[in-house]
Amino acid sequence: MNLVELATFMYPHEAHLAKGKLDAHGIESIILDELTIQTNNFYSNALGGVKLHVLAEDLDKAKEILALDYSSVQDEDADQITETTSETNAFQCPNCNSLNVGEPRLKGPFALLSTLLLGFPFPLVSKQSWCFDCHTAFKVK
Ligand SMILES: [Zn+2]
Repeated sequence: MNLVELATFMYPHEAHLAKGKLDAHGIESIILDELTIQTNNFYSNALGGVKLHVLAEDLDKAKEILALDYSSVQDEDADQITETTSETNAFQCPNCNSLNVGEPRLKGPFALLSTLLLGFPFPLVSKQSWCFDCHTAFKVK
């Protein structure tokens, strides 16, 4: 069993992100000097950073996996999350049927007064909502 250095990182969390990527592809790895650098971050440069080691036979595959870019995948996921939230929005503008409306909020003066007196805004919810598309205020049923 021969361990070789795959990569070095300034901070331990970066090494753990890379280790997680390798774990997901079934490649075993080990993080070295993590605790020393966690104790004093300024030792990182002196020690050569947090080191991620893999078995020599896994080195080439591990380098490929670390080079993979998942940013486009994350963007698609973010779009799906946005679509889901707009679908679950129960409020709809009666004027233009837009879902781009503000949720009912605390009434300004009451929220301010209760925050001053109680230390938190008293839950007096306004029945008014606001459409961001046609700029109309409307009552929520
Ligand atoms: Zn509207």
